[in-house]
Amino acid sequence: MEKIIALCKRRGFIYPGSEIYGGLANTYDYGPAGAELLRNIRNLWWDNFVHKRDDVVGLDASVISHQEVWKASGHTSGFADAMIDCKNCKFRMRADHLIEEKTKEKVEGKSIGELEEIIKNNPKITCPNCGKHNWTDVRKFNLLFPVNLGIVEGDQSLAYLRGETAQGMFINFKNVVDSSRVRLPFGIAQLGKSFRNEITPGNSVFRTLEFEQGEIEYFFDPEISNWEKLFEEWKKIMWDFITKKLSINGENLRWREHDEKERSFYSKKTEDLEYKFPFGFKELWGIAYRTNYDLTQHGKFSNKDLSITDPQTNKKIIPHVIEPAVGINRMLLMILSDSYTEEKDRVVLKLNPKLAPYKAAVFPLLANKPELVEKAKKIYHDLRKNFVTVFDGRGNIGKRYFAQDEIGTPFCITVDFETLENDTVTIRDRDSMKQERVKIEDLIPQIVKKLG
Ligand code: ATP
Repeated sequence: MEKIIALCKRRGFIYPGSEIYGGLANTYDYGPAGAELLRNIRNLWWDNFVHKRDDVVGLDASVISHQEVWKASGHTSGFADAMIDCKNCKFRMRADHLIEEKTKEKVEGKSIGELEEIIKNNPKITCPNCGKHNWTDVRKFNLLFPVNLGIVEGDQSLAYLRGETAQGMFINFKNVVDSSRVRLPFGIAQLGKSFRNEITPGNSVFRTLEFEQGEIEYFFDPEISNWEKLFEEWKKIMWDFITKKLSINGENLRWREHDEKERSFYSKKTEDLEYKFPFGFKELWGIAYRTNYDLTQHGKFSNKDLSITDPQTNKKIIPHVIEPAVGINRMLLMILSDSYTEEKDRVVLKLNPKLAPYKAAVFPLLANKPELVEKAKKIYHDLRKNFVTVFDGRGNIGKRYFAQDEIGTPFCITVDFETLENDTVTIRDRDSMKQERVKIEDLIPQIVKKLG
């Protein structure tokens, strides 16, 4: 993990947030390579789940939302973690994470009292910061970020930054039905930032205060569609997206079903697709059958009728939902972990070329020969009309290959003296390191073909 974090900093993927002011825990900024990688993940997700499906439409809801949204959804009362403080050094962490870290036991779903008992009765559960076993009581801590709007203080101006994108789909359910041609079963999908006041630090962008989610609410009539069948179909879609579109090794993935204690009370079934991060198997993508709990709650709290008439049965129903919910930043961390490869003389990110921040890099063999630089610049300008390309004239050729391997650039193109004679260049493949000589006019079609 440390090596991946160092590479991310060195090559412009991820920087610690507010770094020049000493940093701000659990926040990160994405550099030039990271911003491109995030964008590529988002675009693939959107293309796959919105553009390529007849039965899913997109949404982009506000990040700031009415306090009633979060009362109705249960987040103002129930969206809380149990935290504990070390009396000796004041270190704060999530009680469940503390136990899991120290005992390797899963304790999700246990009550505050149960967590407290485990910690107080086990002297081996010591503070990860100072090593003492001297804990406060376990307390609940709400994860929602409140915001005060305008200049009026008090409850009237209170709103929340959304804790999940899902509620946007529920509160706009009627708007979408009335303004588009969706028919059950159908999905509403959204990509966007969510905010949670998380207290457990560490592990780079795995858990942050601000993160991006890709969520789909797939609405259906339970009398017509079999939820168990739909659930299995979505699981397969999620698995295929990760293994085929993102090219992640299936051996590093597993499903884990939540037991009754861990599951939200309104959910009939929840499973997590877990990835084997360098710090262990952890949730990447959750799928839950949320029944029609959310729409029913919003109907009650808003006094609006959120039922629709199913044209197949002519019955008024409040549809049920299956929700696949993933974190885009966790996907990015998974992709970096899965593609990080150490070889004899180099480190290389063996990214799926579709995800690579830059598809090609163009170099003049020597940076102090204007005729080589000019020719290389011309090729660079032509290539970047087709795909994201970088130009690198610094250092020697070996250093440039080394840098591009660490960024995961699939193709490096070098302009040398032979180029000036016969309009050919060398193209080097990131993974095999093989170099081929090709005509400049064949470069674009060849790279397009290789990108697939
Ligand atoms: P966890 O148990 O790890 O806190 P969760 O079960 O609360 O996650 P969900 O509410 O199901 O997570 O959110 C859906 C997805 O959003 C998760 O699978 C994860 O990929 C992502 N996610 C949730 N919280 C964070 C966070 N603080 N930082 C980054 N990604 C997150």
